Amino acid sequence: MLQLSVPGGHQDILLHSCCAPCSGAVIECLLQNGLRPTVFFSNSNIVPHQEYELRLSELRRYCESLGVPLVVDEYDHEAWLDYVLGRREAEAGEQRRLAEMPERGERCLRCFKFRLLRAAGYAAANGLPVLTTTLASSRWKSLEQVDEAGRFATNVVPPEDRVLWWNQNWRKGGLQPRRGEIICEQGFYNQSYCGCEFSQRHD
Ligand code: SF4
Repeated sequence: MLQLSVPGGHQDILLHSCCAPCSGAVIECLLQNGLRPTVFFSNSNIVPHQEYELRLSELRRYCESLGVPLVVDEYDHEAWLDYVLGRREAEAGEQRRLAEMPERGERCLRCFKFRLLRAAGYAAANGLPVLTTTLASSRWKSLEQVDEAGRFATNVVPPEDRVLWWNQNWRKGGLQPRRGEIICEQGFYNQSYCGCEFSQRHD
């Protein structure tokens, strides 16, 4: 079993979750370490809305089976588009450049920031001292971008509500193969694109 070392030695963790396939082994590992995760589903990037509901229902099923609390954030795809494309301030050409970027580009960093800002805000408002994310468990994501977004989001939190960013690499310690096993065991729906309309284009 992977032995986890949580910043500050805390036991209460807010786990931002992107989907059930990326979360299964992470939640299991947290529980095996005697930690108390609250799962936070904040994914306004996902379209169409049926896809969002499907990914959420798979995660809900898994959390319920383990007795782990799940919090569902507001879904606001228009606000997500405003943020990742800079629709309120950027020229049309700049917005097009961001929309056409491949995955792991600047748009994805903005996407992580949007979602982790929401998560850090929830953690601060609810007295949860540590934030981490399942985004880092996917080999399609840039670990550097996830870390940058996590540090950015937790730094925005006012000092009196301090939230620690936990930059755990969830691909190590046997979690990558365990991820695949849980997907099979649970029969999870396993999506074929990252989530937004720009990632659908690359199918
Ligand atoms: S490709 Fe994925 S990470 Fe990148 S902006 Fe779209 S949903 Fe976000």
